Amino acid sequence: MKMTQATQALLKDKAYINGQWHDANDKAVFAVYNPATGEKITQVPNMGADETAKAIAAAAQAFPAWRALLAKERSKILKKWHQLIVDNVETLALLLTTEQGKPLAEARAEILGGSNSVEWFAEEAKRIYGDTIPTHKADARIIVTREPIGVVGAVTPWNFPSAMITRKISPALAVGCTIVLKPAEDTPLSALALAALAEQAGFPPGVINIVTGDRKAAATIGKTLTSDPAVRKISFTGSTEVGKTLMRQSADTVKKISLELGGNAPFIVFESADLDKAVDGAIISKFRNAGQTCICANRIFVQDSVYDDFASRLVERVKKMKIGAGIEDGVVIGPLINERGVEKVRRHVEDAVKKGAKILFGGKTLERGPLFFEPTVLRDMTDAMAIKEEETFGPVAGLFRFRTEEEAVRMANDTQYGLAAYFYTRDLAQAFRVSERLEYGMVGINEALLATEVAPFGGVKESGIGRENSKYGIEDYTELKYSLVGGIQ
Ligand code: ADP
Repeated sequence: MKMTQATQALLKDKAYINGQWHDANDKAVFAVYNPATGEKITQVPNMGADETAKAIAAAAQAFPAWRALLAKERSKILKKWHQLIVDNVETLALLLTTEQGKPLAEARAEILGGSNSVEWFAEEAKRIYGDTIPTHKADARIIVTREPIGVVGAVTPWNFPSAMITRKISPALAVGCTIVLKPAEDTPLSALALAALAEQAGFPPGVINIVTGDRKAAATIGKTLTSDPAVRKISFTGSTEVGKTLMRQSADTVKKISLELGGNAPFIVFESADLDKAVDGAIISKFRNAGQTCICANRIFVQDSVYDDFASRLVERVKKMKIGAGIEDGVVIGPLINERGVEKVRRHVEDAVKKGAKILFGGKTLERGPLFFEPTVLRDMTDAMAIKEEETFGPVAGLFRFRTEEEAVRMANDTQYGLAAYFYTRDLAQAFRVSERLEYGMVGINEALLATEVAPFGGVKESGIGRENSKYGIEDYTELKYSLVGGIQ
């Protein structure tokens, strides 16, 4: 990584607890690698239960004073943090691409998108309204207020190492909660850089705490966050499997939970669609972040009469995609995050081919490095294949064929997941019919980019609980208090 003074200032190799930069108690560390080159970038503390408990205690101690500030005062610090993130976008983007692999342009978009959440919640901080309810007793009045829930424990994934953090920290802090966050082991540096900017913004010690640990330590840190009674809410983004574990573990102390878990997004192309737009949408939805987003198109359903046309247009576009390290000019597909990710993608392609799918383009890793997988298009997909059931999390577009709208909706809903769905049509009645029948938390109609700070992000079924971003997302960090005031004569 090019070491300018700016990068040096934000490249941290310590965790952040109670306003201090900390090593692990036993000085243990784990390495962070650049997935494009395999080179070690730096190392960060490998922490465990004790350090997590210390961070929770710091957050609990900071909570009363933080919640007691005027909303406007909290908002001011959040706005400062927002401005610092925007001012440092180039450095943050370079750091993000170096540890995560995505093209620099996507890293920049992620940082700015994430900073939009900070700005949005800085504004919302002042609008945590309650209610007065017409009374049921002549001498009493009913008041409903929203209060911060308390200390939040958060765990985030590696695919959006910056935006998944800002969308949790900023609503929590806006309403007056404090937070202990564990970033993904593959990408802790973006989290620590955000903490460094938060420190500059002037959040009091203990309000934001970042605890780092490797994959093994993640289970211990997760267990500590979910079992400590001082933590009142868990917010997790990641796999359905780990989400279920955290949900089970949170049961004993009855914590409020928000889970943003796996998806298996259908992307439906009706014969009524504008095919050029549908191809554009499929490219964005399928190949952004090399297919490593939870709202990625995972199953592409194309109506019989336009199937071949759509397939050949998609292949033409995919052929032109430039693959390489995210810092290189014009690259649109970077490396996958790690060997585990590549293995899954390879397994999905092999399984599909074994069961009758044909490779129209791609299908293998590239010579330039073990984590580079070609953007791939498969046709003749069937329900018997792994891609039907599992999120590929890689650059593989599998095309399924359908004949009727009824069949498309049935196939789209035939999964335990329910995060995002997309479809393309120019038929207005079809747009309403299909949207209403899709069992998903988010639906893109002739649109492939869903995430924005102003709209509720989240899923149904095993894709999760709760919403992030928007006025709905902030409510998840509050509890309602009903006060009955009597004796008013
Ligand atoms: P992925 O398979 O894409 O890495 P995970 O759900 O495993 O997705 O990881 C998402 C986040 O959950 C990461 O920060 C990871 O360290 C963390 N994690 C993994 N296992 C556990 C666990 N048992 N308890 C708490 N967090 C965990």
